[in-house]
Amino acid sequence: METCIFCRIVAGEADGHFLYKDQHCSAFLDIDGFNPGHTLVVPNHHVARLADLTPEAGAHVMATALRIASAIRMSNLPSEGFNLFVSDGECAGQEVAHIHLHILPRFSGDGINVGLGRESLVAAPAVLTATAREIAKHMAGGNI
Ligand code: 5GP
Ligand code: ZN
Repeated sequence: METCIFCRIVAGEADGHFLYKDQHCSAFLDIDGFNPGHTLVVPNHHVARLADLTPEAGAHVMATALRIASAIRMSNLPSEGFNLFVSDGECAGQEVAHIHLHILPRFSGDGINVGLGRESLVAAPAVLTATAREIAKHMAGGNI
């Protein structure tokens, strides 16, 4: 996809500060990261949404993220922990429509608050049971 900024970075047509690249995925620094080392791992081929990502491609992105988190831990960057997250869809805050996994290094006192912005649901056990069953019955039907 020519207009996609992450496709352009992967293709070398736009600047990217790469940590890693292989046949299937690339990892580069977030241009506007929240802590030093904030990294994005992306499939090399344009995939807009989680539902379009194959299990194999998703597993490779995650495996790469684990290696990068390990490298960050060994580096001189501050990191006592990480948030790994994907925003899938506009409603979830996805800004760049090329799926990407954030690796955000965290340390005590970094001032970041990843709270979800409101109180959690207080669901009765029967509601949790029905919800788990509803999802479980579709597990065989999706592409993941
Ligand atoms: P999202 O909200 O879609 O999960 O996150 C998009 C992320 O991409 C943001 O954290 C933003 O800073 C980053 N980003 C947006 N444009 C660029 C760019 O041109 N280059 C890089 N390296 N990161 C970008
Ligand atoms: Zn793209």
